Amino acid sequence: MQSTASLLVDKEGLILQASPAAERLFFAEAGGLIGRHYGFSYRPGEAADIEILQPNGDRLTVATHVHLAEWHDQVAYRVEIDPASQARPLVAKSGNDLLRALVAYSPLAIIVTDLSGCVTLWNHAAVQLLGRSDVEMRGQKLPENCAQEEDSLLGLFKRALDGETFQGYEVNGMQGESDALLDVEVWATRMNNARGLPAGVLLMLADITSRKKIEAHIRRVIGHDMLTGLPNRQQFRKQLQRLLHHKKHHEMMPVLVMQLGLDRFRAINKSLGPYLGDQLLRDVSRRLAESLYETDLLARTGGDEFSVLLRGTHHIQDGVRVAERLRQRLAEPIVLGGQEIFVTASVGLAVGPDDGAEAEDLIRAADSAMARAKEQGGDACQYFTPELDAQARNRLVLENALRHAIERNELFLEYQPQVDVARRRIVGVEALLRWRHPDMGLISPASFIPLAENSGLIEPIGHWVLNEACRQLHQWDRAGLPPLRMAVNVSARQFRDSKFRDHVVTALTYNHLAPERLELELTESMLMRNTQEAIRMLERLKALRVHLAIDDFGTGFSSMSYLAEFPIDTLKIDQSFVRGPDGQLRNGPIVRAICTLAAGLGMRTIAEGVESPNQLGLIAKYGCDEVQGFLLAKPMLPDHLADLMRSPESIWPG
Ligand code: C2E
Ligand code: MG
Ligand code: MG
Repeated sequence: MQSTASLLVDKEGLILQASPAAERLFFAEAGGLIGRHYGFSYRPGEAADIEILQPNGDRLTVATHVHLAEWHDQVAYRVEIDPASQARPLVAKSGNDLLRALVAYSPLAIIVTDLSGCVTLWNHAAVQLLGRSDVEMRGQKLPENCAQEEDSLLGLFKRALDGETFQGYEVNGMQGESDALLDVEVWATRMNNARGLPAGVLLMLADITSRKKIEAHIRRVIGHDMLTGLPNRQQFRKQLQRLLHHKKHHEMMPVLVMQLGLDRFRAINKSLGPYLGDQLLRDVSRRLAESLYETDLLARTGGDEFSVLLRGTHHIQDGVRVAERLRQRLAEPIVLGGQEIFVTASVGLAVGPDDGAEAEDLIRAADSAMARAKEQGGDACQYFTPELDAQARNRLVLENALRHAIERNELFLEYQPQVDVARRRIVGVEALLRWRHPDMGLISPASFIPLAENSGLIEPIGHWVLNEACRQLHQWDRAGLPPLRMAVNVSARQFRDSKFRDHVVTALTYNHLAPERLELELTESMLMRNTQEAIRMLERLKALRVHLAIDDFGTGFSSMSYLAEFPIDTLKIDQSFVRGPDGQLRNGPIVRAICTLAAGLGMRTIAEGVESPNQLGLIAKYGCDEVQGFLLAKPMLPDHLADLMRSPESIWPG
């Protein structure tokens, strides 16, 4: 009944007993209410609101319930004060009341003791922190509630009494409520009496347990990978750097860094789903850890990438041997969700200080060696060479230059006509991206588009192409050219971008173009990767009524069953089936088969790379709807195209 405020009063209304809660309610000291008279009027068995006068002169209205009781064979009354009615605004008039109120309401646990370490004053926060009742506090000695004796409350009291002062002193593992171990911050000092002699100790404690927990968590997250518990990239770099710098001052022993990437992990992860994908990564990290010495450092440095620092390894050949061991261990099937999964890895090796004296360089070297192993089909080990470095550097230079290409106006578009076979007229153009770098000259899209894809630059660039092509089409419309269809190449990343559809809508609306005027060229590989999602994306685009084409058709192994489900308008027959030696048609049967297939599915066909009249003749015979190629026209600047459209001469050869 500690929390209930109750009083025992005699017939005259004199207080005989008061619960600690009642004492707190009246801001009275322990035992301070006994013998006092508050002039209650009471009717036993009834609930009533009564007004009680507080020491500071305020009147406080509380709900009470009065029961008949006994006190030494005399009639007495038990007045119970309803805890719910005790909430009240804080009013304090005199300085003493204010101080009492401050102590009572402080979120800090406050405890005052006498010289012997017995509690003389405490507040609600202290009761809560220590999990002791008011009775267990009053007059009791401070407990030894910490494994570190001198950090227990009693220990702190003794130290403070000896003259030590504490300001935000941190104690870990103090026993609190229901024996929970708490982290607390302590402020403590000795208090002297009016004559300057020690009278007791004032202790204030703040519970910082949850703050410490969050801090520890953040530290874990920053230094370690959550999924596998391995050190992360920053941690790996830090340790490698420390080792390299340490070595600078001592003997120059080689340091081997290994970068290991799982092959085709993205595809595996997609088919497994995220839960099993995570399991797989944990399994892989466990296998790697088991195959290394404890002195080696294994870290997870990317989604599907791991880094290893081999200590005490002298020769690149040792590194290769370790890499082979790791790859063999990974090659054993992993059983997940009832199926056997086979993973392979590509490994890159670099040796410091030869391949890099700083951690950053060494990691980059191992990285580019791994990239090379991947480029060559994966499932291999490759060590770093200066040529690799040069390639990587080139790529970096190009990538940096590309970053500024848009803002420096170095990008422009050329347009290649697409000619309708039956009408022998230009019906559309394909926008082809060009980059003229001030020093490096004209750079082929075939070399910078993949770079832009990998670095994410394709998103702003692709956005620019879409807008520029639509702007140009509108300009031709205004110049009175017959309405053309504009084909724009879309990269895989753009296609997957959730904002892409909005970009298309904006470009069309802004340039007053009907959606049918735009044709988006997609590639087979991006449609085949995750077909269900691809179908959804295609349908969202198709709902806009734009045309959709599959570029380079026939090279990406389209699944025929999916092809029928795709809302596609046009198949662009890849040039490799068209351009043969001496102007021959390279693969007539394929071209013919694609034309038949497309007709059966209700799609149109465009043949790309038409360079000779012979090719054109055969392609027309096989029923292809449109042709595009150097024989008819090369990609050209907009003005040139406008001239060509206005010229009375037919573009058809012969
Ligand atoms: P693509 O979309 O298949 O474009 C056709 C390529 O074939 C163009 O090369 C074009 O100039 C070339 N071509 C056309 N007719 C003939 C011919 O008769 N003979 C020969 N030998 N070649 C012909 P380009 O402009 O170098 O573009 C190469 C690739 O770069 C394009 O292949 C496309 O995949 C990509 N690309 C170009 N512009 C963009 C763009 O704006 N965005 C994206 N994502 N990719 C683009
Ligand atoms: Mg194209
Ligand atoms: Mg193509």
